[in-house]
Amino acid sequence: MTAPSAASATAVAVPIPLPAPVTRQTLLFNALMFSEYRRALVVRRRQVVRRTRPERAVPSVLAVRSADRRANEESAMSLIPFPHRPVTDAAHLGTVLGVWAHPDDEAFLSGGLMAAARDAGRRVVCVTATLGERGTTDPRRWPPDRLGRVRRHELDASLAALGVEEHHLLGITDGTCATQPRDAVVDRLAGIIDAVAPDTIVTFGPDGLTGHEDHQTVSAWTTAACSAVAPDTRLLYATTTEEFVEGWEPAREAFDVFLADGLPLRTPESELAVHLRLDSTVLDRKVVALRAQATQMAGLIAAVGEDRVRQWWSTEAFVSADSTSTGARPWGTWRVAA
Ligand SMILES: [Zn+2]
Repeated sequence: MTAPSAASATAVAVPIPLPAPVTRQTLLFNALMFSEYRRALVVRRRQVVRRTRPERAVPSVLAVRSADRRANEESAMSLIPFPHRPVTDAAHLGTVLGVWAHPDDEAFLSGGLMAAARDAGRRVVCVTATLGERGTTDPRRWPPDRLGRVRRHELDASLAALGVEEHHLLGITDGTCATQPRDAVVDRLAGIIDAVAPDTIVTFGPDGLTGHEDHQTVSAWTTAACSAVAPDTRLLYATTTEEFVEGWEPAREAFDVFLADGLPLRTPESELAVHLRLDSTVLDRKVVALRAQATQMAGLIAAVGEDRVRQWWSTEAFVSADSTSTGARPWGTWRVAA
């Protein structure tokens, strides 16, 4: 990844005005923004859920295998001080494993990170829990089987644009992560982590970024699996910054993608472990990757234009899991309607 340009560094902070007035047509386009968010504009339920389940016990066999493996490998991160200052170059993240809930989560939140890491010769592996097959307001046109098939192809194309060649699908039904047998899924993720032996794992924070229950559940799974088999691995949670929220604010009412109370987070830059400002070359690839997921992106880009999408998603920010408070959490949870 090349050094961030001054232009890209300053562009993000510019508030993006909405076209006025906000019309019914605009609101309809809003419903196309993200798959899992579409349903929010049709039937919306807000329920505050606190994570109360205890962390899973360490599976001893996997833990020993992981320890042996890592003892015999030279970590690419060994010379890089962390977390004394935020990492701004994805090349410094070593082997990266991303764990996400739905197709397009990985592109929005880590597309630039993945592209830059691959360009630097790093291994990048992506895990996607569901195919996002319920991500439509028009299930007659897009029944789950069809949408799931299409989104799988879209995701393949999107990852290819980023240079990511290793991908795992967990095959979980969209919107049902919280009702899955937790230990079985954590075991599966632990097996992937053990096999990949990543230096860095990226996923959602406990807030789920938008408050989506699938996101929050994936965060809990990944955290438990990492703790079990790779406790020394750098675990990063995607977050939103004060800068992002200020840029998003003019669109907040019309683009209601942050689904739960208390979100988006306004994480101070001083708390970031990784803060990537994508240069134009990497950003181009991220936009290609987003465009590849056309069932989710075509309506949005048609509604607001590509330039706005580029500005909103030209930075990628993560906090260290170690620094995340375990105290009271002021956010809620959004669930897909039954
Ligand atoms: Zn998602």
